[in-house]
Amino acid sequence: MKISADFDSGNIQVIDASDPQRVLLAMRPDLNSYHFQWFHFQVDGLQPGQRYGFSLTNAGQSAYNRAWDGYQAVASYDQLDWFRVPTRFEDGQLHFELQAEHECVRFAYFEPYPRARHERLIAKALERGAELVASGRSLEGRDIQLLRIGGQAGARLKLWIIAQQHPGEHMAEWFMEGLIERLQNPQDAEITALLAEAEFYLVPNMNPDGAYRGHLRTNHAGQDLNRAWQSASSERSPEVLFVLQHMQRLGVDLFLDIHGDEEIPHVFTAGCEGNPGYTPRLAALEEDFRSRLVGIGAEFQTRFGYPRDEPGQANLTLACNAVGQAFDCLSFTIEMPFKDHDDNPQPRTGWNGARSQKLGQDVLTVLAQMVATLR
Ligand SMILES: [Zn+2]
Repeated sequence: MKISADFDSGNIQVIDASDPQRVLLAMRPDLNSYHFQWFHFQVDGLQPGQRYGFSLTNAGQSAYNRAWDGYQAVASYDQLDWFRVPTRFEDGQLHFELQAEHECVRFAYFEPYPRARHERLIAKALERGAELVASGRSLEGRDIQLLRIGGQAGARLKLWIIAQQHPGEHMAEWFMEGLIERLQNPQDAEITALLAEAEFYLVPNMNPDGAYRGHLRTNHAGQDLNRAWQSASSERSPEVLFVLQHMQRLGVDLFLDIHGDEEIPHVFTAGCEGNPGYTPRLAALEEDFRSRLVGIGAEFQTRFGYPRDEPGQANLTLACNAVGQAFDCLSFTIEMPFKDHDDNPQPRTGWNGARSQKLGQDVLTVLAQMVATLR
């Protein structure tokens, strides 16, 4: 048996692979940071028909160590169809097993969104008429594309959506792929009407270094980008600085920041209720967005989520709060689960790339309904 993780978003350390019933592994922390939770590795040389067991021995010390209860690891033989495997968290270790059907398998924390797919997503979007407004540079020199998609230049509203500030939250770029696909469908009358009023500014991947390196939370400097929106710098967080500068130049009438949550098995939003600049207008827009998303039957709910901030107590280093405060606009963090959306459980896949794509498309329906009221 050979275990490898030396590829895009790979992360594992092998401690002892001598017993195929209980291969001992550990997750590697983010570079320059103590966070870890993401894993992604390949196993070659399996014997079809045989049962294999794997143990992440440091799961109990991970960043969200209460998140493992109810979590099932994902596996794939072809890196296209990802399915959940029997998993249990016990004595601080995460154990999962597989009855092998092929000689080679990949395991991951969540269905990965590969960098090669990102390159194809950008190329296809540009072919179909998106404009590359600018390209930022990560600390390791990877491109951070800012795309504009709109029916006409200089539309009344500028709607911004960014994704995967937290690099292990791969569902975020799946969301963006679904959203971009729909935005560029010329047959979609709802979208045509939306683009008559608004243009979209999209950053499909905010943290390419972290994603490539198999990080959970931070960039190459060990910086959590979603805590850098009051102190963005070219040394520690050029990814945020790049986006902020373009926001200041162009303006923002709506902001969505796309994430995944390790613990909560539901799709939910977090808003700006703790911002000093929060107003009844913004509260009404938040309520309208949420109830419309429920109303159209999207995989979304409003019962479970983070505790609400007290008035004036928002953490303004978060993108959602910082942008909502600076631009007095509707601003949300959208959180998708690593586990499943328990309002509509799908045990074979749990929450996955396809469901994230669909949510991105459903959010556009809501924005089309709300476009007249956003500003
Ligand atoms: Zn996040």
